[in-house]
Amino acid sequence: MSQSSIFTRIINGEMPGEIVYQDDLVFAIKDIHPKAPVHILIIPREEIGMVNEIGQSNEHIAGRLLSVAAKLAKQFNLDKSGYRLVINNGRDAGQEIKHLHVHLLGGRRLTWPPG
Ligand code: 5GP
Repeated sequence: MSQSSIFTRIINGEMPGEIVYQDDLVFAIKDIHPKAPVHILIIPREEIGMVNEIGQSNEHIAGRLLSVAAKLAKQFNLDKSGYRLVINNGRDAGQEIKHLHVHLLGGRRLTWPPG
């Protein structure tokens, strides 16, 4: 049997992590190596691996990831100044953890285009 992801272990209390939000479908934690003053990861409870695996059966979860991102952006006072949502999908994007997650980044000017 394959091992649970790092994120699942955090939400199950098996690993330390700063949980900032949770509901029936998703949860959010602070990134351990923040790339901006606010860097939060919004994660489905179900271990969907990547965007490639989103389809009709789980699009309600994908929608929840975005609505929670908007809620947290407001909570962390980013809604007026702006913020960026990032989902790395696969090798070329540098996806490190194979459990879908949305990065919420803000609190400083973010450059564009990304590297
Ligand atoms: P990815 O490259 O897969 O899109 O992003 C993975 C993110 O997870 C990175 O920003 C990395 O800093 C973060 N991360 C990796 N391990 C841990 C951990 O154990 N705890 C937390 N909170 N974040 C982690």
